[in-house]
Amino acid sequence: MLVLRPSIGRAVGLLLLAGCSPPPSPRPDVVLITIDTLRYDHLSVNDPESPARTSSMDRLARDGVRFTQAWSPISVTGPAFASLLTGQRVGRHGMLMNLFRGGQPLADEHTTLAERLQEAGYRTAAFVSGFTLRAAVGLDQGFEAYDAPEGQQRRWSDRTVERAMAWLAESEEPAFLWFHSYDPHGPLKRWTLPNEETREWARAPTSTISPHQRSEDIVDPDYYKAKYALAVEFADAQVGRLLSYLDDSGRYEDALIILTADHGEGLDEREIWFEHGSLAYEEELHVPLLLKLPGTGRAGDVREAMVSLMDIVPTVTKALALAPLPNIDGRHLLTQSHAQLDGESSHCKPMEFLECAPQGSGGKMLVSRTFAETLLRKSTARGAVYERYDRRADPRERSPELVEVHSAEAQVPPLGPGSLIDPLESLRQERTRISELPGWEADDEADPAEIEKLKALGYLQ
Ligand SMILES: [Zn+2]
Repeated sequence: MLVLRPSIGRAVGLLLLAGCSPPPSPRPDVVLITIDTLRYDHLSVNDPESPARTSSMDRLARDGVRFTQAWSPISVTGPAFASLLTGQRVGRHGMLMNLFRGGQPLADEHTTLAERLQEAGYRTAAFVSGFTLRAAVGLDQGFEAYDAPEGQQRRWSDRTVERAMAWLAESEEPAFLWFHSYDPHGPLKRWTLPNEETREWARAPTSTISPHQRSEDIVDPDYYKAKYALAVEFADAQVGRLLSYLDDSGRYEDALIILTADHGEGLDEREIWFEHGSLAYEEELHVPLLLKLPGTGRAGDVREAMVSLMDIVPTVTKALALAPLPNIDGRHLLTQSHAQLDGESSHCKPMEFLECAPQGSGGKMLVSRTFAETLLRKSTARGAVYERYDRRADPRERSPELVEVHSAEAQVPPLGPGSLIDPLESLRQERTRISELPGWEADDEADPAEIEKLKALGYLQ
């Protein structure tokens, strides 16, 4: 049924443009859509060559602002969402790794976006689809309903979105809904290729394909890439259902809608295939980010500024004229960007061909990016290894200009003329900060009851 309501979009859109008070009345719905493990280049609006066609997500780009340089601070689920929901970098909120791996839950002392919206009178609910976001992770703070697949690895997002729409139907405005799809996260066995049985796939007894992704002895990357694209299209279809619901209930135009991902996914670029969490290269940290403002403000706008998942919180609180969250590292998406963004992997997995030591959080890969260059630090048995990339010539970070190994960090040469900032100093500071946090160097022991679940999702080998 179409519900006719007075438009509030124009007032809030103007507030976003001006970045000032007073608060709009009434406040708009806020809808946060996150697709776990979604690469930037798998939205057709981001890359015309994308093997996945994403008409529903593309619609949000037409109706809102599309960011081409949005980055996650960490290539794993729990900590990345903690940054998104608190506006804080990893070293500040303290979630270094996923909970089961020895990481910490998000401490109660942190304030989340959901808590701020709840205080402002919003109905709040989260419908998430992955085991790694269960309530114990602590991201449920501020949600009156937190619906996670407790006791199972995952839930396909067609089920999740139905529960989300049912909640919306019973929730008057203003509502804050977080809908999370886990579909592109491996294993990808569910998705059947049209030519799965007829094509001859390359096979071998061993491979660099992450064990949780392997199907029998198939080593052909095209097999897994095609399944990943199908999973993205399935997630896109569920986004489409949610947007249609908002249309039909008269809530779409006035809603503030954000769509993004917690991290990307490695395909066959590096030494481990169809994996994330252990590396911090472009394919794992570059994420889609779409922001549809209430009304039609900035429809179709494209922003090339360096922005982060941490920037979502201050953008929403300012748009709604709410008090900012404390101790945030994010900036307003439409008025400020970052000269430099730091990132990291979650941990190093105990896999023979991954050159990192020590394992766990101590083997984190740290990275610092500017618009022009990337400096990446690996911890290896040979010492710290640094790689530098020219982001203008090599945005996919495939050909390092400099690879140096240093047993002592101080031996790394300074960056050349033209560098506005010092990424190396930034990496040093971040390494110092996180090494003082609980969970650093934690071992990878998991609760025995959870081990099989974790293996199936690729978190343990
Ligand atoms: Zn994730």
